[in-house]
Amino acid sequence: MFGFLANDIGIDLGTANTLVFVKDKGIVLREPSVVAVYESTGKVCAVGAEAKRMLGRTPGTITATRPMKDGVIADFEISEAMLRYFIEKVDKNKIVPPRVVIAVPSGITAVEKRAVKDSAINAGAREVILLEEPMAAAIGSGLPIAEPTANMIVDIGGGTTEVAIISLSGVVFSKSIRVGGDELDVAIVQYMKRAYNLLIGERTAEDIKMKIGSAVPIQSGELSMDVRGRDSVAGLPKTIHITSQEIREDALKETIQQVVDLVKSALERCPPELSADLVDHGFVLAGGGALIRGLDNMLSDATGLTVIQAEDPLCAVANGTGIYLNSLGDLDRKRSRVAIN
Ligand code: ADP
Ligand code: MG
Repeated sequence: MFGFLANDIGIDLGTANTLVFVKDKGIVLREPSVVAVYESTGKVCAVGAEAKRMLGRTPGTITATRPMKDGVIADFEISEAMLRYFIEKVDKNKIVPPRVVIAVPSGITAVEKRAVKDSAINAGAREVILLEEPMAAAIGSGLPIAEPTANMIVDIGGGTTEVAIISLSGVVFSKSIRVGGDELDVAIVQYMKRAYNLLIGERTAEDIKMKIGSAVPIQSGELSMDVRGRDSVAGLPKTIHITSQEIREDALKETIQQVVDLVKSALERCPPELSADLVDHGFVLAGGGALIRGLDNMLSDATGLTVIQAEDPLCAVANGTGIYLNSLGDLDRKRSRVAIN
């Protein structure tokens, strides 16, 4: 009887971004998973985009943190505050608390699952259903997960990269590493210091990665840009001109190789029947890291398989939670086998 009145929402609680899908509306919120807190009182000062602008720029009295680390909740109180803020922001119908589907990494422990559920309940959810993230990403990318065939998804997020092979609505195999887009930013910070004595923040590094980052030479012509930072010797602001080639070869290469190695090792462990399916269908790249120029080509060369970039890699998981919500019966609330609890 609640089904008719209540808001059903799906949440992709990522290390970098949190997305909220509201049933019948689609993705209504997309903000960085960042919370700024007053140090003296521990009170939340800002959440999301506003808090991200504060990262690296806070006065001593405020700290801006990312409560999700390595794909799991690193700070319960702060994650709960963040979840509450996001749920309240989208849930205008306060009469009935929402039912919430949350995508969580497939490797998390029972204790961590409990913690995510408790946080969401404390943050105002009526009922919480956990959905494995690769499953959500696969559903959101339109893969036929219920078929007796291999569906492989590689999700490159901020803090983690996760590979999963799904068949008959179950995760047959999954593997993840604590390396993702953030590590690429760190590599760029280190490169700028090493090569030019230029100190830059991670936000600037992320900007460089998005504007000129690449995994393989850019066919349409290499790119370049100006970067501002502080000279580590003179201590003064300065501007340096950099190219996509140096960023690829001297900053990003090693980290990107770790992602390639992960994909290869997952393929080596894939049951033979499913391997054969992958030769036919290839695999899907999702998560913000999928947007690095040429990564699809690089992975395709390394594996010999077709690599398909999800239509909207940053939204795949959230869209998957939404499609899953739609598949939940309102009245009988029959659980599909896909959900984990
Ligand atoms: P999470 O699921 O961990 O929240 P996301 O899937 O939202 O992560 O991806 C965030 C990561 O993707 C960040 O490291 C971000 O810098 C990176 N990213 C986003 N857009 C791009 C882009 N156009 N090129 C390269 N990296 C990108
Ligand atoms: Mg993600």
